[in-house]
Amino acid sequence: MDGARPAEPRVGRIRGVLDPAHWTLWKQRPSLVFYCFLVESVALVATVWTAAVVPVRAWDLVVFGVLAGLGVLQAELGRQVERVRRLVSDTPHINLTSVWTFAGVLLLPPALGTALIAVLYVHLATRSLARMKRVPPFRTTLNATLVVVTCYSADFVLARLGVSDMYAALTAGWRGVTAIALAAVTYFLVAAITILPALTITTRSVKAFFGGLGDNLLEVATLCLGMLTALTLATLPALTLAIVPPLLVLHRAVLIKQLEIAATTDEKTGLFNTTGWHLLASRELARAQRSTRSTFGVLMIDLDYFKLINDEHGHLAGDTVLRAVAATIKTAVRDYDSVGRFGGEEFVVLLPDIGPAAVLAVAERIRSAIEQLKVEYEDGSRTRVIGDLSASIGVATYPDGGTAVDRLLQAADKALYRAKDAGRNQVVDGTATA
Ligand code: GH3
Ligand code: MG
Ligand code: MG
Repeated sequence: MDGARPAEPRVGRIRGVLDPAHWTLWKQRPSLVFYCFLVESVALVATVWTAAVVPVRAWDLVVFGVLAGLGVLQAELGRQVERVRRLVSDTPHINLTSVWTFAGVLLLPPALGTALIAVLYVHLATRSLARMKRVPPFRTTLNATLVVVTCYSADFVLARLGVSDMYAALTAGWRGVTAIALAAVTYFLVAAITILPALTITTRSVKAFFGGLGDNLLEVATLCLGMLTALTLATLPALTLAIVPPLLVLHRAVLIKQLEIAATTDEKTGLFNTTGWHLLASRELARAQRSTRSTFGVLMIDLDYFKLINDEHGHLAGDTVLRAVAATIKTAVRDYDSVGRFGGEEFVVLLPDIGPAAVLAVAERIRSAIEQLKVEYEDGSRTRVIGDLSASIGVATYPDGGTAVDRLLQAADKALYRAKDAGRNQVVDGTATA
């Protein structure tokens, strides 16, 4: 696969990493640059200090070797899955390496834990991540140093509770169990909180970054496996290999979930695509049919004279407008309303549990928000603003506007065309004429 890629400007990339003058870090906002240096300084000071005061035994080096070896083995065996996963999703924080780094917290002197993180991240950066997606080196470095800081905070909790590691926990009864559980909670929380200041590196929302319940459950699962890894290494080391197969299965489970998301998501805007929206609409229809009093609304939204925007500002600016309109519609509706893009500049909204008058009010709110929208885009070195946008909206409400999803869409579509005919930038209710 790598052979099929266009010739890689390898020399340029290597120079970009080695020569500070070429670092992409300098192109980031100053607060982020400061945060990178802060995190790196904390990690460095903590590592140098603990390296000086915590002795390393020969057995620690064996454990270090086993954890590093298993971490590399797992990443290598999971490469195929990771390649597909990264093609369909760029979720940054699916990171099964916590299994090894948290086991390192529970078993290794802290500075050796940092060395373990360095080995695992350098391996990931050179073998897979950097090749599949162009992740700027400063991001990989920041991610790795955030893990170092996270590990030190878990180490700190263990030290405060007087249970220095898994070996001490084995003879400390409930106090040992509690200390290890609290170290895991600390790891989870610190990992989540320390990533916050880095949020705007990408354009993701806080919610997207923290992920849903599933993502957090995954992080919890990796920490649990980290605990079990440490436990077997401290008691029956040869059995530690048994951690690898469940980890590979976990990795596949993540892939399946992400394939499902990719299959129902519109790549350009992050909204539902036709398939995803229809799935939800059918579910909502079934629910409404079960209860005799339930109603729901469907909106069909089409931007007015969008072709002119493309003609005047170019397709890329047009895409920026589409994303801005998508975000505007999302903010104008409730969390459990489903917004989709049916291709082109046509959007659909499903509004569960809402009566005809309220559906019209939401449509009007969306129309007005689009009218007020100002979209900025970069045209060479200057920033230009696109305003004067408008949309026509067709509305249909279940059951009067139709009792099947397709009939409702047809009714909303007809109403949309009436809105266009009547001069655009308006809402037309198609329910009565359906
Ligand atoms: P109206 O709906 O008001 O009748 O006029 P319009 O110009 O918006 O209508 P039409 O549906 O004929 O044109 C839609 C345009 O949307 C045509 C196409 O160039 C553009 N378009 C479709 N998909 C995309 C896309 O993904 N990105 C961009 N930038 N433009 C798109
Ligand atoms: Mg249009
Ligand atoms: Mg159109």
